[in-house]
Amino acid sequence: MKTAVVTGGASGIGLAIAQRLRSDGFHVAALDRNASAGDDSAYRADVTDPDSLAAALGTIREKLGPVTVLVNAAGVDGFKRFQNIDFAEWKRVIEVNLHGVFHTIQAVLPDMVEAGWGRIVNISSSSAQSGQPFMSHYVSSKSAVNGLTKSLALELGPSGITVNAVPPGFIDTPMLRRSEERRLLGGTVEDHIQRTPVRRVGTPEDIAATCAFLISEEAGYITGQIIGVNGGRNT
Ligand code: NAP
Repeated sequence: MKTAVVTGGASGIGLAIAQRLRSDGFHVAALDRNASAGDDSAYRADVTDPDSLAAALGTIREKLGPVTVLVNAAGVDGFKRFQNIDFAEWKRVIEVNLHGVFHTIQAVLPDMVEAGWGRIVNISSSSAQSGQPFMSHYVSSKSAVNGLTKSLALELGPSGITVNAVPPGFIDTPMLRRSEERRLLGGTVEDHIQRTPVRRVGTPEDIAATCAFLISEEAGYITGQIIGVNGGRNT
């Protein structure tokens, strides 16, 4: 049985991915800064803090064995006019969305190299395909994750490790609903549904299904790809 770590696994997309991989027969460790104490598959760690990651991974390896599947779904958003983003805020978004992915991959990679097999899926964002006003820090962080994905795919392919990115567009999660409540979406979710070719909002399960495929044995010839899941909003 393979062991998968899903960051951001306490909420939204990460939670759905953790549930899907569990039902596909993986040992799953859901890693999040909000991990709930009563859930024995939940591990508390902050992806920006390598020490907390190392501690959580030590426990995960002890309980579940080496980690050969990693999904990076932890992330934060940010909405502000570029001139008003102070450098601390810029760095906070990059720190979680990009450096968090760096730290987590570095922490898990030795297990994959040792196994000669691994799957890494990074959850980026469709906004990195289209650009997005008032989200320059967020879009920059997610664009960098797409670039990291392509470079690592080339570097790690010979070690039997695939690396892909899934950039979601408009997925119904607490993050999206918080933005709707704060009127940051340029309309309601319902307004956006009318602009989406398939005429619905995405679900966390849509993203989980794509990740499950990319992690499967059958997807071994797919690496370095950015697989959009966005109802046709970005083509
Ligand atoms: P979500 O519901 O807010 O879930 C994200 C989870 O990651 C939260 O539990 C969050 O904790 C956690 N997290 C944040 N920073 C962390 C850190 N430093 N260390 C550990 N955990 C941390 O958001 P979501 O919508 O599921 O988003 C998941 C991923 O998809 C994110 O990377 C997001 O950028 C991306 N995405 C989402 C959409 C969408 O439409 N929903 C679209 C494009 C991309 P807190 O609640 O404490 O922050």
